[in-house]
Amino acid sequence: MQTILIANRGEIALRVIRTCREMGINTVAIYSEGDTNSMHVKLADRSLCIGPAEPSKSYLDIPRVMSALEVSGAEGVHPGYGFLSENPRFAEIVRASGKVFIGPSPETLELIGDKVKAKEVAKKVGLPLVPGSDGPVDLQKALEVASKVGYPVVIKASTGGGGRGIRVVSNDRELREKFPLATQEAEASFGDGRLYIEKYLINPKHIEVQVLADRYGNVITLGERECSVQRRHQKLVEEAPSTALTEEKRREIQALVADFCREIGYEGAGTVEFLLDQEGNFYFIEMNGRIQVEHPVTEMVYGVDLVEWQIRIARGEKLNLPELQRRGHAVECRINAEDPRTFVPSPGKVEELYLPGGYGIRVDTHLYCGYVVPPFYDSLLAKLIAWGRTREEAIARALRALEEFKVSGSGLKTNIEFHKLVLSSREFQQGRQHIRFVEELLL
Ligand code: ADP
Repeated sequence: MQTILIANRGEIALRVIRTCREMGINTVAIYSEGDTNSMHVKLADRSLCIGPAEPSKSYLDIPRVMSALEVSGAEGVHPGYGFLSENPRFAEIVRASGKVFIGPSPETLELIGDKVKAKEVAKKVGLPLVPGSDGPVDLQKALEVASKVGYPVVIKASTGGGGRGIRVVSNDRELREKFPLATQEAEASFGDGRLYIEKYLINPKHIEVQVLADRYGNVITLGERECSVQRRHQKLVEEAPSTALTEEKRREIQALVADFCREIGYEGAGTVEFLLDQEGNFYFIEMNGRIQVEHPVTEMVYGVDLVEWQIRIARGEKLNLPELQRRGHAVECRINAEDPRTFVPSPGKVEELYLPGGYGIRVDTHLYCGYVVPPFYDSLLAKLIAWGRTREEAIARALRALEEFKVSGSGLKTNIEFHKLVLSSREFQQGRQHIRFVEELLL
């Protein structure tokens, strides 16, 4: 592949452009009318405007992205995360046009995108599942399953994602009330109204294993990340490794993840997600077939460029990484354009910007002074990643960098203060954060 088109925007588009440059690959950016002044447009070798600011008419519009791909002459497309990255139809169309989709096959995306099917495979290879329904349920069946596993239970969309479409209910009455709403919502958001039920675990941790797999059956796992600091199921702080796993448990989970990937013939970079309960039991929840927002914490502790390996694998190369050694600890804070108290998105113009630096600090961002953060997309402004020899050192370094981090402008608010609060809290410093920790912290 001489030229790659990046079907994304923001920090992840930059992230991909950087690796392409280092590999001697030309880049083509696509952008919407809302992104004319974006950094990814400035940094790419070429750029093509594909439509209006609304994602449905630009970054999510397959015919428009395909036209750009044809016109550009690029041989491959990197989808980043979000947008079309896990859309099997897009992957299929790219393949049918004779181009390379940098990611898993359409068949694999279809399989892992159907959480019910993915759970069947997980069960087959011996990955533990959260107790719940075996497949999609109607209301009657949902009530039966809930009485068997016990309340609270969570209603999930079979083809849901990104923490959307999840509802917790504590009794029959709530289940009866919310089930039809969840069906409608799943139908509207994912075009598939099927729902399933799981026991709602009390204050678990979110753990996920990073995988790389090539088409020759080689599978490598690169340890885990912990992403328990979430708000409304959206991750805010991630780290690698997790303090909650012993080396023995870490090896056990990774071996099962590798089995799962072999079973489905996985190819590319991917992430298998788990919940870890307070007794140390882990449960498979889903697999994501894309590069994750939080991938840098893995890169920092393993010294591996995951995007480079996505491209190499897509080119048909064999995974031939030397024996991987984990080194130290890394923490990532997602700096979002949002009101620090209400979490309401607050885009605006960047008038003052000072990015932290120094040993062990990495900032992945598309911000520059004078840039106007558009209101049409997600609110991620920057990822601040801190590496340290120990977790304490990584946290201290992240806190130092947060102090230095300055971004302001009319209308623009960020959650930098929130991150300081999290990182300096006793619970986080002791590794006791769980998925409802933010709610408790803000009480
Ligand atoms: P999505 O595909 O929408 O991201 P997931 O199944 O991956 O949904 O779950 C997202 C988040 O929702 C998890 O990280 C966790 O915070 C919460 N969650 C999901 N399932 C459960 C459960 N059974 N019990 C408690 N929390 C859950």
